[in-house]
Amino acid sequence: MLPVKGTASHEETRDGFRFRGGHAALDLTATLTGRLKEAQRDLFAGPEDVVRWLWAAGFECVQNVPDDHLLDSARLLREAIYILTMGRIMGQVPPARERTVLNDIARLPAAAPEFDSDGSARLCGDAGALLAFIAREAVLLLGGEMADRVRQCEGEGCAIVFLDTSRSGDRRWCSMAACGNRHKVAAFRQRKRKP
Ligand SMILES: [Zn+2]
Repeated sequence: MLPVKGTASHEETRDGFRFRGGHAALDLTATLTGRLKEAQRDLFAGPEDVVRWLWAAGFECVQNVPDDHLLDSARLLREAIYILTMGRIMGQVPPARERTVLNDIARLPAAAPEFDSDGSARLCGDAGALLAFIAREAVLLLGGEMADRVRQCEGEGCAIVFLDTSRSGDRRWCSMAACGNRHKVAAFRQRKRKP
């Protein structure tokens, strides 16, 4: 991913959204929470949430009037990326329906990265063009060399997918502070219980 201007904050949670994926396309999938649990929650309740997420993700979204079409395509793109990502992780053939959705959105006019006066890159555009940019990044990620580094968190009940950029390539958790820590505490308790 581009080191997009505006991502100065590296907090894992920004404006109520989780950013643990290390890649915008993977972070997008985390806007539907509780995927492995009974109750799911769509953080994209309305089109304005999509715009809020884009800003939180570091994109300079200039969509003035978010509409339901934007909401629909954001959800479609999100679910297509999630299913294709999980398929890639499990070594399955990419399903045609989701592939078509992703390719169709990637084909739309995308926001162009701009080289700013302070020497940084920034991405600015309407929400649809930014989603198209993310779709293209998803194609390049899932169809590229880094696809082998896409993983699902091993935390119990955690469905977050992330890009493992560790040197050793053995990252297991979406977040050391969250799932990694929970695992450590559980393992410690188990060790203590053993005679
Ligand atoms: Zn996790």
